[in-house]
Amino acid sequence: MRAALLTSPGQDLTVREVQTAANLRADEVRVRTAAVGLCHSDLHVIDGLVQRPMPVVLGHEASGVVVEAGSAVEGVRVGDHVVVCFVVSCGVCRMCRAGRPAMCQDREATMRGTDEEPRLSLAGREVHQWTNIAGYAEEMVLHHSAVTAIDERMPLDLAALLGCAVATGIGSARTVAQIARGEHVAVIGCGGVGLNVCQGASLAGAATVIAIDRSDAKLELARTRFGATHTINSDREDAAAAVRALTDGGVDHAFEAVGLTPLVSLALDLTVRGGTVWAVGVFGDTAEIRIPAGHLHAGKGVHGVRAGSLVPSRDIPALVQAYLDGRLELEALVGERIPLDRINEGIADLRTGTGARTIVVF
Ligand SMILES: [Zn+2]
Ligand SMILES: [Zn+2]
Repeated sequence: MRAALLTSPGQDLTVREVQTAANLRADEVRVRTAAVGLCHSDLHVIDGLVQRPMPVVLGHEASGVVVEAGSAVEGVRVGDHVVVCFVVSCGVCRMCRAGRPAMCQDREATMRGTDEEPRLSLAGREVHQWTNIAGYAEEMVLHHSAVTAIDERMPLDLAALLGCAVATGIGSARTVAQIARGEHVAVIGCGGVGLNVCQGASLAGAATVIAIDRSDAKLELARTRFGATHTINSDREDAAAAVRALTDGGVDHAFEAVGLTPLVSLALDLTVRGGTVWAVGVFGDTAEIRIPAGHLHAGKGVHGVRAGSLVPSRDIPALVQAYLDGRLELEALVGERIPLDRINEGIADLRTGTGARTIVVF
């Protein structure tokens, strides 16, 4: 099957013929890829900010159809339409048993050992799977926990977006922050995740959803399609002063959805006494955050967020139903749909960042 390979950081991806393992393990499935979204964390690997073994196939929000299932796989069958999600879990560790698969402590159990035939290879050499998925490929060999069966009425191209941006954003607002009706919310950064935090806050009944970004195009999208009630361009306006004026002292929840440590400080300044900052963005491995102690005395907290605390088997079907009922915006997230051969054009668009996502369709 064909896959887009990254052989070293800073290079273009190259589309090559790659072998998938002929035999599945009992706990694996083989999925024919329908669509895969291009996400910023893929770009981190291409740019070398996150270091991983090479060659690697990137791509971690995908959809497809199950074409083969191992003997121990339950919950999905051949022919099922599935969302492929990076929350891959062992099912038996303490956090999995507590119903929190996003916090799984034993991801090795979901991968093949070094003594086993690799899932992907090129001329006898292992090709690595980014986030255990490797979605920039015509076929994926996956641990069964990576896939969730969905209603076949769901368009598969839009379904791919549920695997990362939508699940993380909506989950952060609803499952993690548990925004209550009438609360005030600010969201810093209106990329795929931030727009969906806005959408999740709006669905939760927040009285005020303030979107903050440096791009007018993204702010327009947040306001017209994703439920933001107010927008602030932080290049032109003092965001903290504007938010305090709009909300009588600050928001109950401030979300950092970019992954830059100075924005956590900004989020604290936007927050009312007793409020919470939710750090959703992915920070560099060595990043450190300094918190003026006065914020703690004001009863404020800073809370980390991992994958929106997603429980795929519970949350993915609910998101599909919300879309089918007309309650969830997905189409406005999509910019271009491109074939695998044009993936480097999509990567270039990701770097310039317009807010809309490019989807590779197969
Ligand atoms: Zn992602
Ligand atoms: Zn586990």
